[in-house]
Amino acid sequence: MGNTIPELFGSLVFSDKIMREKLPKDMYKALRKTIDNNTHLEIDVANAVAVAMKEWAVENGATHFTHWFQPMTGYTAEKHDSFICPVESGEVIMDFSGKELVKGEPDASSFPSGGIRATFEARGYTAWDPTSPAFIKDRTLYIPTAFCSYSGEALDKKTPLLRSMDAISREAVKVLKLLGKEDVTNVLTTVGPEQEYFLIDMEDYKRRKDLIFTGRTLLGAPSPKGQEMDDHYFGNLKPRVAAYMHDLDEELWKLGIPAKTKHNEVAPSQHELAPIFDTTNVAVDHNQLTMEIMKKVAEKHGYMCLLHEKPFAGINGSGKHNNWSLTTNTGENLLNPGKTPGENTQFLIFLSAVIKAVDEYADLLRLSVASAGNDHRLGANEAPPAIISIFLGDELTSVIEAIEKDEYFSRAENVQVETGAKVLPHFAKDTTDRNRTSPFAFTGNKFEFRSLGSSVSIAGPNIMLNTAVAESLSIFYEELKDVPADKMDEAIHKLVKDTIVKHKRVIFNGNGYTQEWVEEAEKRGLFNLRSTPDAMPALIADKNKKMFLKHHIYSETELESRYEIRIENYTKTLHIEALTLKDMVLKQFAPSLMDYIDDLTQSALSRKELGIEEAASIQTDLIKKLSACYSNTINGIKKLSEDVDKAESMEPDIEQCKFYHDVVLADMDEIRKYADEAEPLIPEGYLPYPTYEQMLFYV
Ligand code: ADP
Ligand code: MG
Repeated sequence: MGNTIPELFGSLVFSDKIMREKLPKDMYKALRKTIDNNTHLEIDVANAVAVAMKEWAVENGATHFTHWFQPMTGYTAEKHDSFICPVESGEVIMDFSGKELVKGEPDASSFPSGGIRATFEARGYTAWDPTSPAFIKDRTLYIPTAFCSYSGEALDKKTPLLRSMDAISREAVKVLKLLGKEDVTNVLTTVGPEQEYFLIDMEDYKRRKDLIFTGRTLLGAPSPKGQEMDDHYFGNLKPRVAAYMHDLDEELWKLGIPAKTKHNEVAPSQHELAPIFDTTNVAVDHNQLTMEIMKKVAEKHGYMCLLHEKPFAGINGSGKHNNWSLTTNTGENLLNPGKTPGENTQFLIFLSAVIKAVDEYADLLRLSVASAGNDHRLGANEAPPAIISIFLGDELTSVIEAIEKDEYFSRAENVQVETGAKVLPHFAKDTTDRNRTSPFAFTGNKFEFRSLGSSVSIAGPNIMLNTAVAESLSIFYEELKDVPADKMDEAIHKLVKDTIVKHKRVIFNGNGYTQEWVEEAEKRGLFNLRSTPDAMPALIADKNKKMFLKHHIYSETELESRYEIRIENYTKTLHIEALTLKDMVLKQFAPSLMDYIDDLTQSALSRKELGIEEAASIQTDLIKKLSACYSNTINGIKKLSEDVDKAESMEPDIEQCKFYHDVVLADMDEIRKYADEAEPLIPEGYLPYPTYEQMLFYV
């Protein structure tokens, strides 16, 4: 392995360069064709690739291979097989066939399938995804795969993602053909996800049951200092954190993950990592790997890496910004405002396709970022509101307004042409990226979807985004396809204008944190789906189902299964939280509090005996106050237990989710309120777990 970074980068990846070196020329060409044009892979090519892959993997120390897939848990899964194959003499050789490369048969029965297994074949299989490169990790060759049931239903997140990439490519190519772009055969979506995370000391982590079982603290009073000084954001890195980040970068680079930017975030102990963007499919795989490696490297440095959306109350939680754009196989970014009127028209078409998509499928986009964890962030003035809107920036908004009013966009340096197409200014990034409160912002040559939670797979949001934009483009195509060439400019102009008029309600450049916006959005008829249970029905809403079926993203069964899994996932998450809180209160918090109350009582009694009345009465007041907290907390737990029992007796459907959200979560908040009131009054040493102060400020 090389020592310089360019040598290190991708050294554990079965890259294009290695494929070219290792494969016979015709086989390499055939494989490239499969990757670039999505054509069927012949078995002789698969065999050749398998041989080359195995050779390379063994040279690099691998002993096993695994089909790596993304079941609907949102995590990744793998099952390892060794390359060894016995031969006659009782010896073994290292062997790997094309068949083993392209197809695997993991036991699918323990992965969530949301009812698919009940009605269909129980087994599942994994199929090689040649568009995402294989890599070596822990002496195992990892082969990215899709995961399906035997009857062909997607049991994973990758399959629908690949389908959505196909759909948007197909529709975009058709529209580009109308614009005279005959050479474009493929359009890829690109994604650069910025990932936020917390680092805390592993020793602290191990003493917090809530972090261990739920990923977030269920109790904990704020420390004297929070994030109010903004002194952590972009602050200099402490040596131990810097060492972690350095190590993390290197591990990611080896896997070909182009980690680029790292900095401290707003909250204490919070950080961010951003890679250079890639095609969506690869970006999704890389983001899953990044989250995994973040945790692994953290352990090596004595840290725990927290990826939960809201590990600590009262300070910012963590999100993920999904930077998204469209690129042609000829290398053109379709969201780049053009320098010529032609490119300009093209930009405006794709821009309006996105505006239309976000307006019409805002409910789905909202759903795609909804989770029990993210509910603590969205709309809490630290992350975008739950209302999905688009930020375009002043410059682009004035272009849109001019188009709407049939006025020419007049800037001295811009040329006018007869058709009404104008040259847009080249947007400087800094004029468009100022509004951090917007969920969906245009940032110069891409959109940034900012509502994602830090722990989710980015596959979901990108499936929704790709499909919704594919749908806009397919409608545009239908409208334009029979227009004669000499009328095309005019027709496009009208189409863009009509789209803007119809969907401009989703554009909002103001402060998304204000109450005025909530009211204004309601007037505009925009969705405000506050919580996960509110957002969930969007997945199976008729208009959305229709779109998914039309573009072959999800079958009806696949949709239903995902809906079921979401319900299950939400209720289980809250169930575990409730039980953990109960456990912590009954076994840790309340006994510690009672210890302190007992000690105080002893001490107050002795003072009284000695006639030190004032101190004794101060202590008595404190005893009363703490005792009230004690009974309130314990009574709260009683109510929580009853409500959890009620919740568990309900049918697993949306009503159960709502009950968990409205009743169980409210019970938990109530308990926390009393406990957090008492915590600052309890001297250090009584509680068996670390406080916010200890966790956040001594890392
Ligand atoms: P910030 O949003 O923090 O100002 P940048 O704008 O530099 O940071 O980049 C944020 C992310 O957007 C990076 O991961 C970058 O690679 C990604 N990005 C840049 N161009 C594109 C594109 N055309 N498509 C998708 N992602 C992109
Ligand atoms: Mg950003």
